[in-house]
Amino acid sequence: MTETGIIRELDWNLTPSRIQSSADAAISEAKKRLDRIAQTTLKVKSIAPLQSFEEVLASLAEKISPFVFLKNVSTNKAQRDACTEIEKQGKKFINEIWGRKDIYEVIERLEPLTDSLNPEEKTLLVKTLDEFQHRGAALDDERRMEFLEIANNITVLESDFERVLSEITTKVLCTEKELDGVPPDVYESLEKEGDAYLLPLDYPVSVPVIKYAKNPKTRKRMQIALLRRGGKENSERLQDTLALRDRQAKLLGHSNFAEYQIRRRMAKTPNRVFELMNDLKDKLTPLNEKEFEILKELKSKEQGIPLSEVVLENWDIFYYHEMLMREEYAVDQNEIKKYFPVQSVIEGVLDVYQKVLSLKFEEQEEPNVWHEDVRGFRVTDKVSGNLMGVFYLDLFPREGKFKHYAVSSFLNRRVKNRKCLLPMCSMMANFQKPTRSQPSLLTHSEVVTFFHEFGHLMHAITNKASYARFGLSGVLRDFIEVPSQMLENWAWKEEVLTLLSGHFEDSKKKLPSELLKRMIKAKLLDIGYFQLRQVFFSLIDLKYHTDGAEDTTAEYVKLFKEITGMEIPDYTTPDAGFGHLMGGYAAGYYSYLWSRVYSEDLFTKFEEAGFMDVKTGLEYREKILAPGGSLDPDEMVRDFLGRESNSEAFLRSLGLGKK
Ligand SMILES: [Zn+2]
Repeated sequence: MTETGIIRELDWNLTPSRIQSSADAAISEAKKRLDRIAQTTLKVKSIAPLQSFEEVLASLAEKISPFVFLKNVSTNKAQRDACTEIEKQGKKFINEIWGRKDIYEVIERLEPLTDSLNPEEKTLLVKTLDEFQHRGAALDDERRMEFLEIANNITVLESDFERVLSEITTKVLCTEKELDGVPPDVYESLEKEGDAYLLPLDYPVSVPVIKYAKNPKTRKRMQIALLRRGGKENSERLQDTLALRDRQAKLLGHSNFAEYQIRRRMAKTPNRVFELMNDLKDKLTPLNEKEFEILKELKSKEQGIPLSEVVLENWDIFYYHEMLMREEYAVDQNEIKKYFPVQSVIEGVLDVYQKVLSLKFEEQEEPNVWHEDVRGFRVTDKVSGNLMGVFYLDLFPREGKFKHYAVSSFLNRRVKNRKCLLPMCSMMANFQKPTRSQPSLLTHSEVVTFFHEFGHLMHAITNKASYARFGLSGVLRDFIEVPSQMLENWAWKEEVLTLLSGHFEDSKKKLPSELLKRMIKAKLLDIGYFQLRQVFFSLIDLKYHTDGAEDTTAEYVKLFKEITGMEIPDYTTPDAGFGHLMGGYAAGYYSYLWSRVYSEDLFTKFEEAGFMDVKTGLEYREKILAPGGSLDPDEMVRDFLGRESNSEAFLRSLGLGKK
């Protein structure tokens, strides 16, 4: 069967009322079709009802998801508000669908057909039934209604939590003197009040302030502003959500929410995650202690205080880490940055992945976009010549735009009437904007981030599943960071970095090889602390979702101290800005470290074959990326590696394993 690829048309300029009416129409159409499915007679002995059900969900998602995406990127507040409302209504409607006993019973009757189905249909049936059970449809009516009500309340709490974070307009006021040490290009184009610059909390500003401001008071003020994001109101939302999630898990007979969530993932039980995290904690703690001693020595020298009196504060770590990097390794990130103008990084990354994954990218001349900075690319399969989809790069911060780095796959691939509707996805990033005097320049860690997010884009684009359910959002939460983290490895290879680099004043000037080597050598500097932080985030999330929390802020502060030895300043609400917990990663933050075990293991195949090896790349694309959520990740990994996966490469990557 040849599949003709179709790029779906989207309109980013709808007025709020058109957005509302189009969502209303999509929901009422879906309702009608669902009611028809619910009336399927007992005589039907084919999987047609399952396929119709999947079709209803897919076409609903196709109408709603672009609005959910637009909420994160639109330049128009009225449009963003309308989209936020649509997202809430859409999620409530989805909760309702998965709570429908009548449809669940229709699908359940198809179970005897299982053996006659092809593998993808079979997975669809199994996953659909599981999803119904997971979301309460199989409960008795009273408990089913309670479950649904809770799900809807959580939807509102999560949406409000996220809205508060995306609308933060806090500014930290600092004079030029207070910003001593911070590269002027970070702040010189910002607005001023008197002689003070108004610093937003956006990463391109807040991160360099924390890393380079010589005055500890400046760093402290910025750190506190960051730790106050979300405030008490978000802490309360989190607290309420935890209680509701716990009740949901118990309604379904599980002891807690972590168990309820993780049983469907690779890890299967919270215990296996606790084991990994506690093991890492034990291994990383001595490393971290040594690292802190070195940072303390630096502080003692710089501040002229005896070593025994030095206290390392929360806002000191990144500052002294950078200082150490400069002094010990002669690596100055601000120097390196000059060799990574965003344009050459993009070209280089596109170059690398066209080769490695056997793809062809073509920039659209007049892309259909939501902001003039956004660039669009069509992707073609070099092997078959087929069009595969479209991705966008939306790279710079704007007022009201999503504040972090992520990929949204707002149209998943699916086959409809023998025609293939192609995926469409976008990277949302917040790199430093170009200024009058220089283009947007990326630090090396931002280059790594670019590779990471590009990995998510490629996962969405190379998907080959027939059902939208198996697109990027259908990938198991603890596998989804595998392709993205695996791509980070390329950003540490000398040949790749040389290819990507070109001084912004003279693009022929590549990053000097000596500097590059020193930078790669410094890769593991303070890894103990940075990974221990990841262990902390994973553990606090798990703790919240197993034991619950009397006071989410207090628990956070306590565990952070226990694991890293660091104090979190008083009068802050670090839990209130932890968006992952309210945005799909509940009992799932561990996914980053869990996935890293697999991403590092998968990368060993590229190390053996050469990381630009086309054959390995294609095999990776076919075996790991293309199935999306349609196959069991353990099987996919085994198939690609030709053996069981293990954690050797992962431990090595942390400097912990055998050499
Ligand atoms: Zn990611």
